[in-house]
Amino acid sequence: MGKALIIGCGAVASVAIHKCVQNHEVFEEICIASRTKSKCDELKAKLDGGKTIITTAQIDAMDVPALIALINEYKPDIVMNLALPYQDLAIMDACLATKTNYMDTANYEPEDTAKFEYSWQWAYKERFEEAGITALLGSGFDPGVTGVFSAHALKHHFDEIEYLDILDCNGGDHGYPFATNFNPEINIREVSANGRYFENGQWIETKPMEIKRGYNFEDVGPKDMYLLYHEELESLAKNIPGIKRIRFFMTFGQSYLMHLKCLENVGMTSIEPIEFEGKKIIPLQFLKAVLPDPASLGPRTKGKTNIGCIFRGKKDGKDKTYYVYNICDHQECYQEVGSQGVAYTTGVPAMIGAMMLMTGEWDKKGVYNIEEFNPDPYMDALNKWGLPWKESFSPELVD
Ligand code: NDP
Repeated sequence: MGKALIIGCGAVASVAIHKCVQNHEVFEEICIASRTKSKCDELKAKLDGGKTIITTAQIDAMDVPALIALINEYKPDIVMNLALPYQDLAIMDACLATKTNYMDTANYEPEDTAKFEYSWQWAYKERFEEAGITALLGSGFDPGVTGVFSAHALKHHFDEIEYLDILDCNGGDHGYPFATNFNPEINIREVSANGRYFENGQWIETKPMEIKRGYNFEDVGPKDMYLLYHEELESLAKNIPGIKRIRFFMTFGQSYLMHLKCLENVGMTSIEPIEFEGKKIIPLQFLKAVLPDPASLGPRTKGKTNIGCIFRGKKDGKDKTYYVYNICDHQECYQEVGSQGVAYTTGVPAMIGAMMLMTGEWDKKGVYNIEEFNPDPYMDALNKWGLPWKESFSPELVD
């Protein structure tokens, strides 16, 4: 069917690339382009021999002219941005200049400010419309599948959704006292920020980890979870008409929280540059360098993830509750693609999002969040490509 240019070759990209190669009827050709080309070449060597034609390239995605040159030379149908959120706008600029479809898994975040929001990317809407191309924002699990679950709930189960709780549980154990399951810099910036949730048209801010709840997750067991601000809350608050409250909870173990607190207390999570032996360094980037590489956690991580959405609202004038979720086993992911479940649950939806645009299933010009598209083909693809979903109509609720 077509060609994809994939930017980045880290934990998430590696899973998405495995899945593109499995889905060779859609992804006939892929180019893996990243800052460190040797990682792209290693992955190509592992995956070569199938039906998808794989090439590799070196690229600094912040270098827009170089990216434009690469896109013009390769002529992909889509650019899959699986690098870091810092590169989103540069890659969108290159897509605009070359009239190429774009997708990503995380919204833009300036490197020098720990703040993420959609305003920067939504500002491209008219220019993408005029260029006749699509930007699909946030096709990972959360954001990503959580938005598709919301569109599915709205289309098939509710006349009105009043309450949404997104529950992200990682019951996996990698055996390290402290490691992050995806890029440590992005992960720590996210969890050390203030919490925030949407209620009655307003955003309510909390201290980091201030709101704690317990929940008994299917196939994982009881876990403590904490209210975080998460990027899909911003778009879902806008795109679910009349929603009264949206919250996001993520589970953390005591060891993770204790180490994080300690690292914070000594200044290791700061993004303010400091002088060290005559050189400016950023403590959080230094910390990333000494922590285990998330891509190396695959063989060690055992247990399951369980991520989903609990909706409450009205159908035909009656109260209704609906829980839709996916359970994913870390070891099964490792057997299949050599990665742990967190990378898997992000990389599979990245491939599916790109497939939706490449096949023309989703064809709206402009810049859109994932819940703004028809959820049906995506929900089917989740079942087909490794993230089957389950549902319950009388789940335990979060108070
Ligand atoms: P990694 O750090 O493992 O990989 C990032 C990759 O991007 C690396 O290959 C890195 O290259 C490359 N890269 C970084 N900067 C540049 C640049 N300037 N130009 C070209 N390539 C660059 O991250 P993850 O795979 O864990 O995460 C990838 C993305 O997925 C992130 O945006 C993250 O926020 C998002 N994510 C989304 C989730 C969701 O559910 N929506 C969940 C988890 C992650 P190098 O090898 O040289 O470092």
